[in-house]
Amino acid sequence: MKLVTYVAGAGPRLGAVVGDSVVDVARHISGMPADMIALIRHWGSARPRLEQALAGRPDRRLSEVKLRAPVVRPGKILAIGLNYLDHIEETGAQRPPYPTFFAKMSTAANGPFDAIELPSVSDELDYEAELVVVIGRRCRNVPRARAGEVVFGYCVGNDVSVRDWQKRTGQWTLGKSFDTHAPFGPWITTADEIDPHALGIRSFVNGEPRQSSSTKQMLFDCEAQIEHVSEAMTLEPGDLIFTGTPSGVGMARNPPLYLKTGDVVRVEIDGLGAIENRVEAASAAPRIE
Ligand code: ZN
Repeated sequence: MKLVTYVAGAGPRLGAVVGDSVVDVARHISGMPADMIALIRHWGSARPRLEQALAGRPDRRLSEVKLRAPVVRPGKILAIGLNYLDHIEETGAQRPPYPTFFAKMSTAANGPFDAIELPSVSDELDYEAELVVVIGRRCRNVPRARAGEVVFGYCVGNDVSVRDWQKRTGQWTLGKSFDTHAPFGPWITTADEIDPHALGIRSFVNGEPRQSSSTKQMLFDCEAQIEHVSEAMTLEPGDLIFTGTPSGVGMARNPPLYLKTGDVVRVEIDGLGAIENRVEAASAAPRIE
C-alpha cells in the first residue's frame, strides 16, 4: 500500500494512493486515526478496513492535492554516513568499522515537493539521494533476523547537507539539520510491497544526472542499521532512518559543485517514486513567535 499525508482544502489528511488517485482514509472509514503515526500504531486493525476502502471509488486525483511529508513530524530522524561503497571511495575515506550514525532534527522534515532552503550563512548546499526506512513498531535490541518485523515501509529521501557546517567541527548535527533539509516521500510504500536490497537509486539537478547506483552498494544494510541503533535507543512508530547515499554528491566533484537558488533536485528510487525540491534562499531575519 502507498500511504500519503496530503492537503486539499482544510488541514492535513491521510490517504492511500491507487494509480493516479487518492482514497481519503477518514471519509471511508470512521474512527480512523487522523495522522500517520497513529495510523502506523494501529496498523494491525486499520489495514484490513483500509484494504476494503481501496476497492471503492477514489476521492481525488493525486495531481489535485498537495502532498506533505508522509510523517509530518517524525519523533526522530537518524541517518548514516559513509554507507555506500562507491561513496566511501569517492570521499577517500576508509571503510568504517562501525556504522557512522548522526541525527537530523525533526524540524528538518519537509514535504516531497516543497522548497529546500539555501541558508543565508552558507553556499555549500549539497544533496544526498537516500532510501528512507519508516519504523513501524516500538522496539529495542532488535536482532538482525527480526529487523523486518519493525519496518513499516520505505520512502525516497534527500539528506540535504550544508557541507561547511558539517565539516568545520567534529560533529555533523547542525550541518545536517537546517530547516527543510530532510525532504522525503512522496508516499510510504509499505514493507510488504518492496525488497529494499537491490533498488536503483538516482538523483538529478535541473535534469542532469548526478547519482546513479543501487541500494546493494550499502555497507550496512537496513537490517544491520536497525540492529545497531536499537542497541542504543528505543525506536518508535514514525521514526525515520536515512540509510546513506551513493557516489556523485556535489562535494566529491572536482571542483565541488553546490546547489544554488532556483536549482531543482530530483531523487528517485525504483518502486518507491520520486521527490523533487526547488532551492530557495532562506531568510536571515530574526523570527521569534
Ligand atoms: Zn546522508
